[in-house]
Amino acid sequence: MSTVPLQVITPDRVVFSGDVQMVSLRGGDGDLGILPRHAPLVTTVKPGLVKVKVAEGEDYIHVTGGFLEVLPTRITILADAAELSWQIDVERAQRAKERAEARLSQRGEDVDVARAEAALQRAENRLRAAALAKEHGSVLRKYVDDGGEES
Ligand code: ATP
Repeated sequence: MSTVPLQVITPDRVVFSGDVQMVSLRGGDGDLGILPRHAPLVTTVKPGLVKVKVAEGEDYIHVTGGFLEVLPTRITILADAAELSWQIDVERAQRAKERAEARLSQRGEDVDVARAEAALQRAENRLRAAALAKEHGSVLRKYVDDGGEES
């Protein structure tokens, strides 16, 4: 099966760079499944999971939102923050979820509800990505030179 280079970049680092068979994500205008030689496209990326298909199987990259550029010969995702499935610190995400839930349950004047809801969504998405990685295995590991450390 043919492949296309994918890069996932944040202001801090290149999170992923490698040849993939398909990328699926939630774009600003709806769900997208992108194969090699896709028509050029620029759109926003909604916070959530990017599903990446490679020869060995599927894996997930969590993104907090950003932009997608598709060219027939490469796909680029620019994200505010992103983690590969095995880089997610589950306890940290669990703590972030509990903090956000506590803020939302107070709903006092000093609680920024939209901010707490966004934090809750990020935490839940991270937990979902980590759970999926357990289920599917982290097949993108072999594409990334980060020492393969669990965080
Ligand atoms: P927290 O409250 O735990 O910092 P957050 O949702 O506010 O979570 P972000 O602002 O989305 O965090 O991300 C800040 C940085 O921390 C980014 O580099 C992001 O990749 C990283 N990060 C956040 N949460 C986790 C996590 N659970 N595991 C690994 N990296 C994380």
